[in-house]
Amino acid sequence: MRIVVTGGAGQIGSILCGRLLNAGNEVVCVDNLSTGSRSNVTDLESSSGFTFVNADVSEAIAIDGPVDRIYHLASPASPPDYLRTPLATLAVNSRGTANLLRLADREHARFVFASTSEVYGDPEQHPQREEYWGHVNPTGVRSCYDEGKRFGEALTMAHVREGGTDARIVRIFNTFGPHSRPDDGRMVPNFICQALTGRPLTVYGTGNQTRSLCYVDDTVEGIISTMEADIPSGEVINIGNPEEHSVIQFAQMIAQLCGVGFQSVARDLPEDDPARRCPDISKARQLLDWSPRVSLQAGLENTIQWFRTATVQEDLVGAGADPG
Ligand code: UDP
Repeated sequence: MRIVVTGGAGQIGSILCGRLLNAGNEVVCVDNLSTGSRSNVTDLESSSGFTFVNADVSEAIAIDGPVDRIYHLASPASPPDYLRTPLATLAVNSRGTANLLRLADREHARFVFASTSEVYGDPEQHPQREEYWGHVNPTGVRSCYDEGKRFGEALTMAHVREGGTDARIVRIFNTFGPHSRPDDGRMVPNFICQALTGRPLTVYGTGNQTRSLCYVDDTVEGIISTMEADIPSGEVINIGNPEEHSVIQFAQMIAQLCGVGFQSVARDLPEDDPARRCPDISKARQLLDWSPRVSLQAGLENTIQWFRTATVQEDLVGAGADPG
């Protein structure tokens, strides 16, 4: 098959491109490198089935030739990234999604929209099931991402209902692993970079807020399963790991796996930071026969090992910047 992956130089996108290529597909990776890294796909560029297109899908996109599948992952996704670029975040999830859905319609391609657990906002129901409508601040600082993704979902569903597009939506929960930018400002890269360079771990708020972390290989497997499953168009599926821990527990575990004593420094809780987040993945289990396989400890060990490698070592010191 010929497959378009937008955001293909990002963490999830690049690992997805690798999996699709290994399975014998032709992959067109589209990325404007605003938050993705070309180094994430250098290994793939020698493969004849791989094409990299440096483009912003919010603008008109020209993909020549037939397309069988479209994975639309392009978007800033870490809170510091989207807080810095709210207009681009809204654009890629609205205009970008519209452009790709048009491409899907023209090519009769199957489409997957990468949505997020952020559509549930600061949830009042726990764990979060797909039926839950969420608790989102529509004008808050995170609204560019939350509402951008909610609009992308609405647009995808409108195409399914009005145009008969074959589309599915994955709501991706917190994902970690190799290929994340050391300076993307998320919890796991920050804590690892801080621990490996002997700095205290910056815990925002009380550290009692919870998250549930899914290893990137599991996330990618869940996304591919959603695309390929024999399920009705318009299906919405949570992809994440339901093992929930507090931020402070993650911090302690990462310090221990990095082989350093636990030292933390308290920092303000960012605005609209959700208090709890954990996916209910019964639907993915039932419809896709998918559930995460990599344990938190094994995933963190792989990630720490990746951060220790020479290619990213030079970035470690500047990464995990303390907001002070
Ligand atoms: N967090 C933290 N210290 C950091 C970075 C993040 O305590 O250096 C907290 C953050 O406030 C949030 C959780 O870790 O409660 C996960 O944050 P992340 O940025 O990874 O993603 P989010 O789940 O908020 O989208």
